[in-house]
Amino acid sequence: MSFSLYGCLPEEISSRIGLEKAYRGRQIFEGLHKRGLDPASMTDLPASLRGKIASEIPLFATEVAQTLQDPDGTVKLRLAAGGGGGAASIECVLLQTDTGRKTACLSTQAGCAMGCVFCKTGTLGLHRNLDAAEIVEQFHHLSRAWGPVNNIVFMGMGEPLENLEAVRKSISVFTHPRGLAISPRRMTVSTCGVVPGILSLADEGPALGMAVSLVSADEQKRKALMPVALRWGLEELKRALVYHREKTGKRLTVEIVLLKGINDGREDIRKLRHYLAGLDAIVNLIPWNPAPGLDFREPAEAAVQLYYEELQRVGIPAVRRYRRGRKIGGACGQLGGGWQSG
Ligand code: SAH
Ligand code: SF4
Repeated sequence: MSFSLYGCLPEEISSRIGLEKAYRGRQIFEGLHKRGLDPASMTDLPASLRGKIASEIPLFATEVAQTLQDPDGTVKLRLAAGGGGGAASIECVLLQTDTGRKTACLSTQAGCAMGCVFCKTGTLGLHRNLDAAEIVEQFHHLSRAWGPVNNIVFMGMGEPLENLEAVRKSISVFTHPRGLAISPRRMTVSTCGVVPGILSLADEGPALGMAVSLVSADEQKRKALMPVALRWGLEELKRALVYHREKTGKRLTVEIVLLKGINDGREDIRKLRHYLAGLDAIVNLIPWNPAPGLDFREPAEAAVQLYYEELQRVGIPAVRRYRRGRKIGGACGQLGGGWQSG
């Protein structure tokens, strides 16, 4: 565990610093999150307390090691984390739409154990889980440099539902009324299909947008591409997704990474249509992004268009995800070039 004030709720700040007055913890929390201040510049705190915090308490558990900017506006940060969990490098991405809306794409693990064969992060294996401070700080490093961020997606490195406790804790910091007070409506978690995690979010919350990397609605193909499918098959996954939808009212996004010659044919579209019946999902089509060492091919433009039009034709809403951040290795599936340091 690394420690920083950013991973703490107000009451934890109070107990960690040993504050007698509980309102001081709330004040510091508010200063950090709502006003974007370091404790040293919180002039409403007594000077002695500011001095104590500066000398005794680490503010950040991570620091920016590298900043990369794509001409399309996407920004990728590589953060160096120390902490008891061991040194790790963490990547996070800021995506901007043409209208200026900003989305922070946050990592939840250094590396990933799930082993999806088309994903760079998946080839690395799991280095370790990130803790709440390391997740929250990604957001702050991005917004300090590039201004207010509108949305959060847990879609960076790692499988969020394999590190659900830290993800939940980070959400309680993000949504706290004294801090950023970000609505859960503006957050989405993306999973490769970890059924117990989907059920746990449905039963215990928080109710976030749910995105699932389905990739293929053909059981054999999915098993070959995504080892997670060996644990939870398509039918079990669908039951969990329907349950989540019923319990939370949140619309589902189904992500299809399009791999040329593998899942981009008419039969694949037919199986997907069949699978989506009763799911009320929006399909997100993501043409495969290349990364060193991965042996797949990008789908032809015509194949992406065919997929898109076929889904539209039968009334299934679909969007094509923009290929943002590719020049800086910051697009989906490209994260994790140098994830381990030291
Ligand atoms: N582990 C979670 C979230 C991180 S992956 C999950 O799998 O959903 C984030 C997204 O990138 C997912 O939608 C995943 O399907 C997609 N992705 C992975 N590798 C990709 C690649 N090489 N090209 C395009 N998208 C990819
Ligand atoms: Fe992990 Fe998601 Fe990549 Fe699969 S697609 S290896 S779950 S990060």
